Amino acid sequence: MQRVFSGIQPSGELHIGNYLGAVRNWVALQSEYECIFCIVDLHAITQPYDPKELSARTFEMAVGLLAAGLDPERCTLFVQSHVPEHTELAWALSTVAPLGELERMTQFKDKAAREETVPAALLNYPVLQAADILLYLAEKVPVGEDQLQHLELAREIARRWNARFGTALFPEPQPVLSKARRIVGLDGSAKMSKSLGNTIGVLESPEAIWEKLRPAMTDPARKTRRDPGTPEICNIYALHQHFSTPAQVAHVAEMCRTAGWGCLDCKRMLADNMIAALAPVRERAADLKRHPERVRSVLGRGAAHCRRIAGETMARVRDVMGLSARDA
Ligand code: SF4
Repeated sequence: MQRVFSGIQPSGELHIGNYLGAVRNWVALQSEYECIFCIVDLHAITQPYDPKELSARTFEMAVGLLAAGLDPERCTLFVQSHVPEHTELAWALSTVAPLGELERMTQFKDKAAREETVPAALLNYPVLQAADILLYLAEKVPVGEDQLQHLELAREIARRWNARFGTALFPEPQPVLSKARRIVGLDGSAKMSKSLGNTIGVLESPEAIWEKLRPAMTDPARKTRRDPGTPEICNIYALHQHFSTPAQVAHVAEMCRTAGWGCLDCKRMLADNMIAALAPVRERAADLKRHPERVRSVLGRGAAHCRRIAGETMARVRDVMGLSARDA
């Protein structure tokens, strides 16, 4: 069975952008592949953060992932910093990672432009990502389109490292693209992201979901209820496609084009469907929060399993790089 690796930042509560764009796909992949999923706290510290909050955010993300359907009997879930080999391999790979390519990464340029002083970890972020994947010799990586550039770099790093040390240890990982490629936030313009405050949390109450959807951006042409709209340019319509039935989606398009209803009616239908779809996830999360020891046990078993695989890979890496203790 081919091995899949993917990671998610510990941004706290899972939001519907993560859920639709990545996690729903992960849940499906569990039955097809040997899956390893990682909460990437070492990536999270490349941005300003509060150390007092990080472990709570990591725990919240684990709760969200398990509640959303990751099954510890069918996949491995762990926290990146609990397996120290990730940083060791990142250092080994940085010896062949091309600086020019790292500087050309779109995410690096975007984030670096917002910083007064750019931390080196921001530049090396894709090297750590390559290490995350290659440490487990993963063949497949579910990614969003915005991560394709980093995955291509991971493939190049694997090729360069194999060539430099005359081995075929690392496979070149292939992307598995999610059907929901880019979930736009409630502002209707940027990708849904906690840092932009344009999200709906998967575990939010029905009231909170409605309070967030009600003012969400729609087609600006619909200034009044009598103005017809174009559903294809409206993010509410895009969200209907994930939560409503095909008949409801067709009805939404018709009512929008003919000004048959107002945007609030349209959002109310979406809110009701979203609340119903997420209710089982909320219930499972509430149960897990009542039993935090279950979540810690899953993460502990996941880290132990990953340390075994990572230890084997690093023994081979140290060997071919002349770093083995027995050679000294
Ligand atoms: S009716 Fe629905 S699809 Fe049309 S603009 Fe309003 S919210 Fe968007």
